[in-house]
Order: sequence, then structure tokens, then C-alpha cells
Amino acid sequence: MGKELLRKLPKVDTLLHNSEVQKAFENTSKALVTEAVREAVDSYRKGILQGDIENFSEEDIISSFNLILKDKNSFKLKKVVNAAGIVIHTNLGRSLLCEEAAKQVENIIKSYNNLEYDIEQGKRGSRYSHIEEIIKKITGAEGALVVNNNAAAVMLVLNTLCEDKEAIVSRGQLVEIGGSFRIPEVMKFSRAKLVEVGTTNRTHLYDYENSITGETGVLLKVHTSNFKILGFTEEVPAEELASLGEKYNIPVVEDIGSGVLVNLENYGLSYEPTVQESIRKGIDVVTFSGDKMLGGPQAGIIIGKKKYIDAIKKNQLTRALRVDKMTLAALEATLKCYLDEKTAIKEIPTLNMMLTPKEELKKKAVQLKRKLSSAPSHFKFEISEAFSMVGGGSMPEEKLTTWVVKIKSSKLSSVEMEKLFRKAETPVIVRINSEEIYLDLRTIFKEDYDIILEALKEMGE
Ligand SMILES: *Cc1c(COP(=O)(O)O)cnc(C)c1O
Repeated sequence: MGKELLRKLPKVDTLLHNSEVQKAFENTSKALVTEAVREAVDSYRKGILQGDIENFSEEDIISSFNLILKDKNSFKLKKVVNAAGIVIHTNLGRSLLCEEAAKQVENIIKSYNNLEYDIEQGKRGSRYSHIEEIIKKITGAEGALVVNNNAAAVMLVLNTLCEDKEAIVSRGQLVEIGGSFRIPEVMKFSRAKLVEVGTTNRTHLYDYENSITGETGVLLKVHTSNFKILGFTEEVPAEELASLGEKYNIPVVEDIGSGVLVNLENYGLSYEPTVQESIRKGIDVVTFSGDKMLGGPQAGIIIGKKKYIDAIKKNQLTRALRVDKMTLAALEATLKCYLDEKTAIKEIPTLNMMLTPKEELKKKAVQLKRKLSSAPSHFKFEISEAFSMVGGGSMPEEKLTTWVVKIKSSKLSSVEMEKLFRKAETPVIVRINSEEIYLDLRTIFKEDYDIILEALKEMGE
């Protein structure tokens, strides 16, 4: 039986003459089409040998070929719908750029520009100069520099100020962020020697002071972005650490993580230290991400006292960690929004999504549910209040009240639905909560409603 079926399998060369395959040649290279035909035939051969396929026609192989070719022609990095409600989802690309930033990127990349050209002087300029003024203006710092990401920023700062010297850090702040950023490892790469002080839950000013020696290069403070230690705890406030550094003439560096530039307490969220506060309290060098709560492109922003920023700019590593014009264009446009706080809240998607009022989310839930009424009849929808997370290792305790559309099916389990949503033409990333599928309206755009409906239709009647 199997052998007979195998014999029935058409040859690749024969299939190349099939009219649909011939049509594919019009806009795809011969090599790619042939590869797709071969893979389609191979998959049938495998299926026959494994006993999964008991019969087939040439059309079956051709439709398999079409799917394979479509996949080969599609972009691997592509749009997905974030229905999980996590605003800064590192796996889904973190922050979305605001409209102005997207436009400015397009502007800059399609034409020549003054990236490293000083138009006034008519000579070579610095790529960092375009963005330094606006960062200084918003943060109140004396100097600024932008590198690839915050991990690079921390490494560069430590390498510049603390190579072969000791960096004193509280044991309560030896954090790991997303598995790949760990303070002790970053120290090793930057060739700074880690000196741990205090305990996991409590570190006092005297712990730092008692460990200062002639070898001390920096006092390092790290924001414990993605976790909170509760109960009997103590951290040294920024201003006290800054004074201690000043007393001994040792720079105080803070990795503040998320780069919050507006006081979120004014908008009903819990307290989160702002970049401006750290500078005001006298921290010498502060580093933060561009694509977390700041809401811009991936970048690591370093700000602080001019003498330290100047030294960092001269480090050879800076060249290896430098940012592209696309990043600079996007970051400048994003930061421009912050010149007026209201504009920032309105225009920057990350802030906007974090602060969307629940009444508005409820309205969207009603709209989405209505839209989904034409989905296959085995799906049942219900709207409900729930909680969403900020994500990106930011504000781990903040529970944002949101509205969701819950989906049940008489044919598919939640696990099956979650998988089929992921495999849709445009993948939809959902959340499963106590065995139920949740579509969280906080991160779903109106343009996504049709995509979600399509995904449900693809799951079949
Ligand atoms: C997120 C984070 C980092 C890493 O930043 P990237 O921009 O992802 O490199 C480092 N430190 C802290 C405290 C963070 O929260």
C-alpha cells in the first residue's frame, strides 16, 4: 500500500510543468520555486512512510506547495496583534513608536542627512550632537550620550569610570533583567570589580562608606525594576548616596532601568522614580532604556555631569555601541513630544496605553464583541473587567484595570485556540487566564478587530 502510494508521487521535474507552479515563476526565483516543490513532495513522502497519508492527488501537493512558497516569500519579522494586554512586551518588540517618530525615521532614511556633518561649520560633526540638547533640556543633566541599549550603557559607563577598580553595589540590587542582563555579568564584561555590601533586604549608608577604599571606582545604584522586596527593607536614598560620593570624590552611577520622564503618580499610577529626580538628587551618571516606559526606539541613554559624559564619549567602546540614524531620528521625535507633557501622554503609544481610562477600554470591548458576532457559531464571547500589566520589567506590582473579551468554544479548548491564534495569517498573541482566552483591549487597536475576526474564521466552522 505504502509502496504503491510512493510510486504515485509525482517527480519534482514533472510538477515544475504544472500550471500553478509555472505561474509562480512569474514573480519568484526558479531556485525558490523548485525548493518549495521539493519540500512539498518530501512532506508527502514522509507522510506516506509514517502512514499518515493514505491517499492524495496532485492538487493536494500543489496546495501544499502554495503554502510553503507563501511562507518562503513572507517576511520572518512581521506584525502581530498584541491581545495579551502587556504594554511593554519585550518578546513583541517593546514600545511602539509614535506617529511623528515613524514619519521622521522614514524622512531621514530616504534622503541624505547631516548625521555626522556640521552644517554651520561645513565640516565633520558628531552624530550625538543632534540629540544631546533635547535630552539635557528634558532631564536637566549637563551632558548626554546615546548607545545601543541600556545594557550597553551600563557596561560602557562602568568600563569608563571603573575599569580595574571596584564598584560598590547593594546585595539587594544585584538584579537580573530578562535572563540576559545580570549586574554581576555586566561588571565582568566592563572589567569592574564587584564589591557587594549590605544584605538582600537591608543596606545602609555605612555599608557603602565602610567599603570605600583607594580602589573604589564608582558607587552603583540599580533600580530593581522587575521585582520588589517587601517587609523589613531599607535602601539608601539617591541623595544620600550622592552626598557620600561627593564626600569621597567618587562618581555615583544609577541604572534606573525604564526611563520614566513624567511623574506617573499624577495620572493615578503608583510611584516610579523619574530620570529628572535622579539628576536633581545629585546622581553623577544615570542610564536608562529608550524603549521601555520612555516609549521610544531601542536605545541606552546615558546622562549626567559633563566631565563624566566627556570621558565616556572618548571610550573606544562607544564606537562599537553606537546607534544608527534610524534610532536617532526616532528618539529625537519621541523626545520632542516630552517638551509638552500633555502631548507626550497623548502621542506616545506606551504612555497612552498605560493610561487609557477603563471606560474607554469597556467601550472598545463592546465594539470588539459586536464585531466578532459574525465569527463561526461555536465561539461564545463575553466582556468582563480584568487587569493588565505594564511589562518590560517595569512596575511589576501595578495592576491596571482593563476590559477584556473572553472567548469560549464548544469545539476547541483554550490551549488549542491560543495556538491557532498564534498560527493565524497575522498572529494574534492572547492571554490565557484560568483556562479562558482573554483579549485585552488595552493593547488592541481598532484596526486589529478585523484581524482577530479573520483568525477566528480561519479556525473553521
Ligand atoms: C531593562 C533594564 C536593563 C536592560 O535594558 P535594555 O535596554 O533592555 O538593555 C538594565 N537595567 C535595568 C534596571 C533594567 O530595568
